[in-house]
Amino acid sequence: MLVFSNQTLKSIKVFAEREYPYECCGLLIGKHTSTDIQVKRHISSPNVTREDKRETFEIDPKIRFDVMRDLEDGSGLSIIGHYHSHPDEAAIPSKKDLEMAFEPELVWVILSVIKGSVIDIVPFIYNTEQKMFDRLQIKIN
Ligand SMILES: [Zn+2]
Repeated sequence: MLVFSNQTLKSIKVFAEREYPYECCGLLIGKHTSTDIQVKRHISSPNVTREDKRETFEIDPKIRFDVMRDLEDGSGLSIIGHYHSHPDEAAIPSKKDLEMAFEPELVWVILSVIKGSVIDIVPFIYNTEQKMFDRLQIKIN
């Protein structure tokens, strides 16, 4: 189960719609508990891919580096995953997403943005044994 605050989820939605028709992307900061993965906040990133931004994404490595450094403050929080949008496509991992998935335990949140509006938000986690994405449940509190 991936737990979001309403406010964080809303903020990601607004960002995804603003970046349409391009893919948005960003990092999810939070922690694992015995039962859940809790998202505490998100850090948006420019999509720095050199390919077509409507079909793929790349998080700015400098942002990831800075975030990792900032999280060394003993708060117990870490990068638990990332999110990106699929403009005018379903919230299902693409072939390219599968090719880029190699880090276990990392949550992938995909937002489907149809004609500029977010209609679906689905979290996945990469299963390194089966080399596929498992769908997670989402909970808003
Ligand atoms: Zn994708």
